[in-house]
Amino acid sequence: MAKPKAFLGIDLGGTKIHVVAIDQDGRVRASGRAATEPKRGYRKVLATIAEVATSVADEGEVRIKDLPAVGIGVPGIVEPRKGRIVMAANLGWSDRDIATDLGELLGSPVVVGNDVNMGALGEMAFGAARGLRTAFAAYVGTGLGGALIVRGKVVNGAHGFAGELGHMPAPFTQRQCGCGHRGCLETSASKTGMMQRIAEGVARGEKCLLPRDGTLKTSAIRKALDAGCPTTMAAVDELAGALAYGLASIGTILDPQAFILGGGVVEGLHERIVPMVAEQMPRHAALYARHAPDLRVAALGDDGVATGAAFAAMQRA
Ligand SMILES: [Zn+2]
Repeated sequence: MAKPKAFLGIDLGGTKIHVVAIDQDGRVRASGRAATEPKRGYRKVLATIAEVATSVADEGEVRIKDLPAVGIGVPGIVEPRKGRIVMAANLGWSDRDIATDLGELLGSPVVVGNDVNMGALGEMAFGAARGLRTAFAAYVGTGLGGALIVRGKVVNGAHGFAGELGHMPAPFTQRQCGCGHRGCLETSASKTGMMQRIAEGVARGEKCLLPRDGTLKTSAIRKALDAGCPTTMAAVDELAGALAYGLASIGTILDPQAFILGGGVVEGLHERIVPMVAEQMPRHAALYARHAPDLRVAALGDDGVATGAAFAAMQRA
């Protein structure tokens, strides 16, 4: 079979579906988006994915039927070999054979992976983790995701949980986590954690310059930081400190060549957060008192998960 001109990767998020067609060098030839609206149900979401994928394939000048596979990154726990979603809380799905169901719609085999793992794979193939054998990727957004790269491969673990940094126990927080436990790291090191820290501060009578409309945009956080808002500063400090603790702990086990930091919060605030994390990691681990951690900002941004998914499909070729 001739090598296809492009490969398709899908980033299935809780709010949006993002599809890219990339060439062999990871350049995006075509892309498309649609709203996920998971409340419509599993089948309707799959139909939308197939629609966007078909139009992106047309624009990228490939036929889906000619591809060895199409890749998809899913926000949840995935059994990668079977391509089955064990649980995707943000979508309200559990125990779904998405590889078979989407494969039937597309007329092509489908490679399924956790979205953070796909993002890390993209960074390894074409981004900030290129050429690394051992690395750890942490994505700070609404939650905190992580991916473990060992010997140049993403490690899924026995049950698909490997690298789940966000749900690592953290001794400094007792906040309730979405997973049902208390005191998970992401209750400090995520946007959700920051919002909670800010709400707690305001309840104690701290001054806060952020708009109190229930959302938290990184642009608003930057503005509040520039204006010297003490509560926002404390929330960013807490996030960076928690992330430093988590990465130092992972580092002690894995001793990776580098850490890749991504996700919306890092993208918007990395000039502030990355130096704070670098400064604090040596306090938690002797390793980083001797060797400064190599902290790299993810290079693929919003296209990372879809690009990694397309690369996973390319590996099937
Ligand atoms: Zn948790």
